[in-house]
Amino acid sequence: MKARAATEPEASASVPLTLLPWHAGARSRLETAVAGGRLPHALLLHGPEGVGKERFATVLAGALFCSRRGTTLIPCGECADCALSRAASHPDLHWLRIPEDKKSIGVDAVRETCEQLGMTSMRSGYRVAIVSPAHSMTTNAQNALLKTLEEPSPRTLLVLVTSRPSRLLATLRSRCQRVEIPRPGAAPATQWLGDELGAVPAAGLLELAGGAPLRAVALAPHFASLESQMTGLFDDLLSGRSEVTRMSAEMMGEGLPVRLDWLEAWLGTALRRRTLPDATRLTLPGGPLLQRAAAEVNISAAFRMVDRLREARRLLEGSAAPQLLLEALLVELVAAFRRKGVA
Ligand SMILES: [Zn+2]
Repeated sequence: MKARAATEPEASASVPLTLLPWHAGARSRLETAVAGGRLPHALLLHGPEGVGKERFATVLAGALFCSRRGTTLIPCGECADCALSRAASHPDLHWLRIPEDKKSIGVDAVRETCEQLGMTSMRSGYRVAIVSPAHSMTTNAQNALLKTLEEPSPRTLLVLVTSRPSRLLATLRSRCQRVEIPRPGAAPATQWLGDELGAVPAAGLLELAGGAPLRAVALAPHFASLESQMTGLFDDLLSGRSEVTRMSAEMMGEGLPVRLDWLEAWLGTALRRRTLPDATRLTLPGGPLLQRAAAEVNISAAFRMVDRLREARRLLEGSAAPQLLLEALLVELVAAFRRKGVA
């Protein structure tokens, strides 16, 4: 949580203590465990990016601290503990994240958090540590955490938040109870997104976000310019007005992952329009050239391109020459789409 300036009104400086609509199932499963006195010492909170896993963890911690929650996992929002949770300053909640100048969560930081968890509660009794993203812990850090889990202190909860649970040690995973935060269905996600944005979401926005509503909210302000940039580049490439080198140069940089997401979402929509009944009503961005290319592309070639895009994203993460990789990918894209009569 970002520190807020002292001049800002305190009432508005608040962490939401309510869950998102699609969190209800995960909450009720945990409530059953709490009611039966079976809340485990460690939870593995997993699910895709942008579904509110950290929010779920924050509300869960707030509920455990709340002095008036009763048998539910709903923080009352009014007691002294809830006020501390809202202000992101509850002394029994410890966040462990990647330090700004590092790329992983190291063993020293984990040891420090484990020590804090082992101390006496400052207030209500529960102490909670949230590690996010948990897959960013080094192997040594994960092993250190494992030691704490072998001898947990009473009334402590460790929450590991991750979109990539397979990157955690199997021994660590097996010590945690898994709680999945799923992606909501398209209809409830669109409704929530509309409420959040105060407008009907742009066609394709949720798709670009991989169906993850919080990610869609973050992408919304840049969506129109991204779409116009990418349709322009793609159109120029297929028409032969520009070369792959130009498109790759324009795609490089910080926005590369989201630009690759856009290409993948565009291909996905094009494929659905071709293969699913009633899907012709789906809006496909782009002018006449892109529409025609999508209508005429060889379907298996387009499916192959989706696979290639996904693979490229993984390769680009650790690549020493990302632009060359991207150029090779765009050459394949042109070959798949530029058919006789299209160019
Ligand atoms: Zn409360």
